[in-house]
Order: sequence, then C-alpha cells, then structure tokens
Amino acid sequence: MKGQMMRVAQRLFEGSATAGTCLPSAAREIDAPDPHAHPLCKVCQGRDLTLLYRSQKYGFQVCRCASCRFVFVRNKISEQELRQMYSEDQGFQEFAQAMANEKVEARHRRALQEIKQALRMPLESDVAQHQPVLFDVGSGTGAFLMAAREAGFEVHGNEFSTTAIRMARETHRIELSSLAIEEDERSGYFDVITLWGVIEHALDPRGLLENSFRLLRSGGLLFAYTPVWCLYDNIALGFSRASLGHWTRLLDRRITTAHLQLFSQPVLERTLANVGFNLISSERVCEYNLHLAAYLESLGIPARARGGIAWALEQLIERGLFFRNNIRVLCRKRNR
Ligand SMILES: [Zn+2]
Repeated sequence: MKGQMMRVAQRLFEGSATAGTCLPSAAREIDAPDPHAHPLCKVCQGRDLTLLYRSQKYGFQVCRCASCRFVFVRNKISEQELRQMYSEDQGFQEFAQAMANEKVEARHRRALQEIKQALRMPLESDVAQHQPVLFDVGSGTGAFLMAAREAGFEVHGNEFSTTAIRMARETHRIELSSLAIEEDERSGYFDVITLWGVIEHALDPRGLLENSFRLLRSGGLLFAYTPVWCLYDNIALGFSRASLGHWTRLLDRRITTAHLQLFSQPVLERTLANVGFNLISSERVCEYNLHLAAYLESLGIPARARGGIAWALEQLIERGLFFRNNIRVLCRKRNR
C-alpha cells in the first residue's frame, strides 16, 4: 500500500515542488505565484500564508495561515487524483485488519454512548421509537457502522476505496455509496454524521464540514475524530528549523500525501462554530493506532533499542502522559 501511495504521490507533486531545497531557518512568507499551489487558506480564505517547511520525503510545501493558524499542504491535488490514490490501494485489507483492534472498538462504543446521550436515546436499549439515521463519511470497511447498527441506528455511509466498499458488503452487509458528500442530495435528512479520521484527508476540509451541516437536520449531531497539531508537531518543527529544513522526518509522520492538513483544537472549534455548530464536547486525547515498534523503525531507531523504548512509550500512552495527538469533538447543528 505504502509503495503505491508513494508512487502516486511522487507523480502528484512532480514539478510542483523541489524536494531537497534548503529552507532559511526562520519561516518566510510565500509570495511567489505558483499555479500548483493553493493561493488562499483552505479554511478562512486568508492570503497571508507562511511556509513552515518543505517535506524532504514527499517534496510538498506545508504552510500556516497567519489569520486562522490552519496548517496544510499547499500543493494542489484534484479529486480525481485523490480518488485514484485511494482506489489504487490494494493493501486496504491488511490496513483494515491492523485497525480493527479493541482500542478502536472501544472508541466507537464510547462515541455511540455520547451520541445516544445527546439524542436522549435509551442508553442500554437498541430499540428506539424513532430509529435515528446516521451517516459515516469515509466508512472504510464499515466497522463503525456495524457498531452503530447494533446500537440502534439506521446506518449509511460512503467510501472512495472500491476494496473497502466490497469488504463492507461482504463482511457486514452494509451497502456504501461511492458518491462524495457534496454530491449527496439528502439535505436535512440525517440525525447524526460521523467523521472518523476523515477531516485530515479532505481536499476541502471546510467544505466537508459545510456539507455535513447541510445533510443534518436542525439539531442533528456531528461527531469528528481527527489528528491535531500538538506539542509533538511544535517540537518536530523545531528540529526541522534547527537542521535548516533538511530533517523533516518527524513532521513527515504527521502530514503526508494522505493527511493533507492538521487542525489545532482552537482552529477546529472556531471553524465548526463559523459553519453553524454549537459545541457539546471537545477533548484532546492521547491515542495511537499503529504498532509503536513500526513507528520507531520508521524514525531510524535501531532494532535492539526499539523493544524497550516501545514498552516505555506504551506505559506513558496508557496513562495519557504522551502527546495528545488526536481530538474528538461532538457538536450540534444550530437552528438558523
Ligand atoms: Zn486561514
């Protein structure tokens, strides 16, 4: 999967950025017109963009908006290219298996409890007078939708990966749509929309939130789970600057050809409010999905040291003492 993603990524970014170019240690303003780059902030349309770093691994530029502090990949990708990147993904099955673990299932259960509470559904019963309708954007192989169906929801979802659509059908008997959310015409239809690890992938993150708003009924709920810009990223940026832009390995773990942006908690909360949501809860959490040994290997840490470091990190993570790298947000569509 990774190899194919990298090949597509290289094609996407060829000509639009020069890998290996040295950055000055201080960030500078981007002023040169570039037809392959976003001229404006993807969240607030601000013009004042500061180059944070140029990824040594992927070759793209990552910038921060001076007005709203949103951090994103500045190079443009078309929806067609994005769809191609996900449809070429033959390793989805292995990825789905790696992700279908107890920790992820516990997160799903916790979110469903909170959603039921906010909808005033009976918590212990899966029988409700009105079966609430839930739409999960980017459903993957349908693991969350299966949990939602068991919790009493009528479930819908969409997905770009044809492998995932087939797996959702075969494994969970869930029929996913291949339409993008902006093509869905069921405005005001859904009681709940969920975005599990989707915002960071979106070409137009603000548009994604606006379309979620449009599809929800008045008073409907939006739940989002996404990585956030945190202390880790500030430290990683410090390393990058100290090396005059040559060493971006820590940053390249966070913003990739798939993860095109990172909101910070205040930026995400403000954007949701501007779109028309009232916040119910917003919490940064210390939660990691991938095996730590693989993560340490990718950072170049020698095999003999990995086991001990991974164990120590696991202890810190379990106690919530490591970087709070993700955010979970629940909010309600305001009446207009
Ligand atoms: Zn902005």
